[in-house]
Amino acid sequence: MTLLKRVLLFLKKVQDNAAKTDVITYEMMQSWQHELLDLLKNENKVVDPEPIRKHLDGVLKKQLTRKSLRKNFKGNALNFTKARLTESSQKFLRERVMFSVSLIQHNREQQVNATLRRFEGWLSGVPTNSVSEAKEKPREAVKDIIKPLIKQSFEERRVLIDQGHKLSAAVNDAIAQDQGAICVEWHSHWQEANYNYRKDHKERDKKLFFYKDNYFVKNGYIKKDGIQYINDIDGFGQEPFCRCYGTYFFTLYDIPESYLTKKGKEYING
Ligand SMILES: [Zn+2]
Repeated sequence: MTLLKRVLLFLKKVQDNAAKTDVITYEMMQSWQHELLDLLKNENKVVDPEPIRKHLDGVLKKQLTRKSLRKNFKGNALNFTKARLTESSQKFLRERVMFSVSLIQHNREQQVNATLRRFEGWLSGVPTNSVSEAKEKPREAVKDIIKPLIKQSFEERRVLIDQGHKLSAAVNDAIAQDQGAICVEWHSHWQEANYNYRKDHKERDKKLFFYKDNYFVKNGYIKKDGIQYINDIDGFGQEPFCRCYGTYFFTLYDIPESYLTKKGKEYING
């Protein structure tokens, strides 16, 4: 039986029972809530971390391919060892699995609570000691009551997608810092249909953001005027559902000359 059907039968029973009584007591309300909770058991089960770990591990594997690394990291060949990269990315993976499980668990609890709240609201309008039906008939009420649960799998997918982006961003950021990135070019998906982009992230599209602590940035190879620092803004995937990503640059040769000081230009012209 579908959830909708089960809850509908339950509402009808509650309505019938209410009609046979003078008042709805606290005990009656509590026992109905428990019964409804029982019906929602499947929707409120403990989150299994294993499929989440598998999903995020898949994201990671895709990201750590040579092709994908070449796309995100311009310039010199990266000289980290695969073992070191795997070690630090496993750490990020564990972190993201933990957050995903926790977020999904709280979502489920919230949705079940919202359903109970909606049921209570409906119940408060059910007539007692009467042959008439509730003002809002069970068939009309049921969809509204279980609405939070209908959205559940959609919400859970969104959490996984978001955590996947955060994982990618954390791994890229670790590689960039480890390898001494000079700057990163921001990419926003603002042109993608149906993507609810952030206005300030759209503004950043295709712009360069420099690392304050980088040797070349600190030592006068890069102009100070009019440049922006990655250290001063929220990073990739930090804001909820941000899907922006970066392309990282590690050598002065890959940076447009307009950003270079005289010293910087002398450096690349040997
Ligand atoms: Zn963004």
